[in-house]
Amino acid sequence: MSEAKFNRIILKLSGEALAGEQGFGINQDIINNIAKQVKDVHKIGVQVAIVVGGGNIWRGIAGSAKGMDRATADYMGMLATVMNALALQDALEEQEVDTRVQTAIEMRQVAEPYIRRKAIRHLEKNRVVIFASGTGNPYFSTDTASALRAAEIEADVILMAKKVDGVFDSDPVKNPDAVMYKELSYLDVLNKGLGVMDSTAASLCMDNNIPIIVFNLEQNGNIFRACIGEKIGTIVGSDE
Ligand code: UDP
Repeated sequence: MSEAKFNRIILKLSGEALAGEQGFGINQDIINNIAKQVKDVHKIGVQVAIVVGGGNIWRGIAGSAKGMDRATADYMGMLATVMNALALQDALEEQEVDTRVQTAIEMRQVAEPYIRRKAIRHLEKNRVVIFASGTGNPYFSTDTASALRAAEIEADVILMAKKVDGVFDSDPVKNPDAVMYKELSYLDVLNKGLGVMDSTAASLCMDNNIPIIVFNLEQNGNIFRACIGEKIGTIVGSDE
């Protein structure tokens, strides 16, 4: 048990992370692989809460760009996260990991409503908790939901899963000379507009001193490495 550096983590999975190369929807192999990686950290006693995005299905901003009412489009985005949450729950239970989905928009036939104290109780009982529907409010993102839930459940860290190794000074997909930062402060992220997370999420992390590790999900075992304190990706924290 002592192997783990963190007692309680929030794993932020974007919708894109579940889609893989197909770029849309849910890739079953990928979701199964994520479930296995989660099981590995769960086994060493890390309490895992997951905030899942919905961009692989629907993004509010895209709907509103086409003329749809922004709040309506955002609610659709939040519903998309519920589909991803259920798919993840299914994959985790396939791995025999006890899992509960809690949703910020009530739908009792499908998932529990979000109740902070109950979420903490589940974690203490070694259940993985998946937070769906973001914050439950339009105009926010699931990045902000991960910061909010991390503060609420007193998580030690947010693990931000990406398709690249960490945070770079330019887009590493387009620029082969892009340099990865090992460490950054919240203010760096905010001032340089580094695309780690949106500014609402970054300020919430800064105000509540929640460290963020940005890492590559596509490299197998990275969630485990991060949880045992191996230095992977980019660490975002306070300056001191
Ligand atoms: N969303 C929202 N409020 C929230 C979280 C999400 O309105 O608190 C909506 C928003 O439209 C967003 C969509 O849900 O575009 C999907 O979430 P997000 O874009 O954060 O998913 P990701 O980029 O992580 O896949």
